[in-house]
Amino acid sequence: MASILIKGGTLLTMDEHNPIVSGDLLIRDSRISSIGQTGETADINIDAAGCAVLPGFVQTHLHLCQTLFRGAADDLPLLDWLKKRVWPMEAAHTAESVRASARLGVAELIKGGTTCALTMETVNHTGEVFKVVDESGFRAIVGKCMMDKGDDVPRALHEETDNSIKESLSLLESWHGKADGRIGYCFAPRFALSCTHELLSRVGQLAQERGVMVHTHASENKDECAWVENATGLRNVVYLDSLGLSGRHVMLAHCVHLDAAEFEILRNTQTNVAHCPSSNLKLGSGIAQITRMLEEGISVSLGADGAACNNRLDMFTEMRTMALLQKVLHGPEAIPAHQSLRMATYGGAKALGLEQQIGSLEIGKRADVIIVKLDSLHSTPHASELISALVYSAQTSDVRSVLIDGEIVMKDRNLLTLDEGAIVSDAGRESSALLTRAGIKP
Ligand SMILES: [Zn+2]
Repeated sequence: MASILIKGGTLLTMDEHNPIVSGDLLIRDSRISSIGQTGETADINIDAAGCAVLPGFVQTHLHLCQTLFRGAADDLPLLDWLKKRVWPMEAAHTAESVRASARLGVAELIKGGTTCALTMETVNHTGEVFKVVDESGFRAIVGKCMMDKGDDVPRALHEETDNSIKESLSLLESWHGKADGRIGYCFAPRFALSCTHELLSRVGQLAQERGVMVHTHASENKDECAWVENATGLRNVVYLDSLGLSGRHVMLAHCVHLDAAEFEILRNTQTNVAHCPSSNLKLGSGIAQITRMLEEGISVSLGADGAACNNRLDMFTEMRTMALLQKVLHGPEAIPAHQSLRMATYGGAKALGLEQQIGSLEIGKRADVIIVKLDSLHSTPHASELISALVYSAQTSDVRSVLIDGEIVMKDRNLLTLDEGAIVSDAGRESSALLTRAGIKP
């Protein structure tokens, strides 16, 4: 593999003791081999003068299969959004439309500086998402959505419990640890409303046995919480915990509506929370108590959720929105810029159990690195506060180049592993056919 030298940038290492270093970043054999030296030589040089060089963003809650649904499910609360739009559209997916959706999503993520994601797909065709992740060079932990219950669930999404587990295990065996560890599998039961007690408890056990993550939604919306409490007699997070769905290997997306006992479970079990501020606002779900979670030592990382409820897949938007919301609740001192940036990088890596491999610029780590130009009008001046410029001013279009696992996947805004023109035209064609199949557009 060619060695790569990123020259002349300002390195934001995410190291608490030595966060900002100037000098070059050398990458050899897909790993970071020196930081802040000058005078090194390499096969490929990338000029980073005037740029920040930092670890790629890690998003911990996404749905690549929903990228094609962008703009097709606006202005609805969660349960209507699911039943009237998202489930019918997921049920109408074909292998080709899932592939177009995942390509569109991964391309958007890379162009915005996200290099790794935890993603929940739909019930069918998850193999297509794995292929797209493999071919694009993106890093992801992917799970097939599991749904074996629910009155309003379309037939194509309603599975038998055994089949759901069988297909999940088959995908796990085919893909977990593939591409030199760049691809992982997670169990992805959708949420308590659409999964039986039996499915959830078997997933809890299997995830422990197989050493993989569980990725699910929890306590996003008040109606959802009331439904779970009526059906089980337990608060949502208490119910999931009682089935073995808590712990360091579990990612709960949202956690907007929690009581004191649920906070205690998250803290004591070190269960991870994926905060999706834009999605929570757009679906009118509420504002999660992120400041309290962080004060209590709960692991919080960030995700855009899907294009059907955001409608961007953009970490700059999520960092900024999270910070602004917490400042409204707790005053302007809440969540300073360096804390947002750490949550968007190292925090995400740690939540996925990948902190030994990615999430900071450290010798020996995998080279997931982004180069962000900070001399555009909207991010100038930034001489005194580089991190402030990144969190509050920068935009996806400022990301110049992206490396994942030491491979250059975007150079000077050009995607090298994906065909941007073909992605846009395939997405347009596949989305209009899908909306027709779903009965949403004639
Ligand atoms: Zn979601």
